Amino acid sequence: MGRTIAIANQKGGVGKTTTSINLSASLAEKGKKVLVIDTDPQGNTTSGFGINKNELDNTVYELILGECSIQESIIKNIVPGVSIIPSNVNLAATEIELIGVDKKEFILRNEVDWIKDQYDYIIIDCPPSLNMLTINAMTTADSVLVPIQCEYYALEGLSQLIHTVNLVKERLNPDLDIEGVVFTMYDSRTNLSMQVVENVKSHLNQNIYKTVIPRNIRLAEAPSYGMPINMYDAKSAGAEAYLLLADEVINRKGV
Ligand code: ADP
Ligand code: MG
Repeated sequence: MGRTIAIANQKGGVGKTTTSINLSASLAEKGKKVLVIDTDPQGNTTSGFGINKNELDNTVYELILGECSIQESIIKNIVPGVSIIPSNVNLAATEIELIGVDKKEFILRNEVDWIKDQYDYIIIDCPPSLNMLTINAMTTADSVLVPIQCEYYALEGLSQLIHTVNLVKERLNPDLDIEGVVFTMYDSRTNLSMQVVENVKSHLNQNIYKTVIPRNIRLAEAPSYGMPINMYDAKSAGAEAYLLLADEVINRKGV
């Protein structure tokens, strides 16, 4: 049985999408079969895999509204070993479309249940808010992986995120865990990054990955070429770091 991991933090720009794309591609490089689900209307994971967001018939939006089947929503092997359910700006209307819909917190989970056993990992990129899409992602997931940017306000909003995970666990998905916290955009030339890591470690009672993702320009460039980092520049520090993170994710639960 595969594992479903939601990449969540309601702050924007902390590295959720970069982690979704590159953790997925790195898990695939390790021989795992991966499905990525893009639940952010910005569709940056979708375009980061080289997909034209504006030319999609079926996305997470159609899936959630019941206008297509989950099989119809999947683009298979967008890169070797990685399939994707894409998203685009249409998804921004979901919140409104779901007003009054019964059991709306479970729509994604009920769909994913059909295909879950076909993948080793399902990685869900979340939007930068605690809305119904994030709740759907957390209800579907076995665990939540939280990227934290190495910046001064790193801890801000984290208690709210942890509270949300706990509420979902209590009321909707008793099996949900916090997978762990991964530091992103670490800059070894400044003291600030190091201080942030130490500060978060001392305040946060969560699993923290040993792998720290460095600030690496190649990671920022790769999406504009529509490639994950292991295709764009396999020798970069960013590519190496995401491979190490994939190892840790695999070893943590031994899948
Ligand atoms: P989120 O999905 O949380 O909003 P992103 O993954 O889109 O965050 O990252 C925000 C911006 O920072 C993007 O422009 C991305 O390319 C850049 N970025 C993310 N991680 C790194 C990194 N490790 N090194 C350099 N740039 C990064
Ligand atoms: Mg994002």
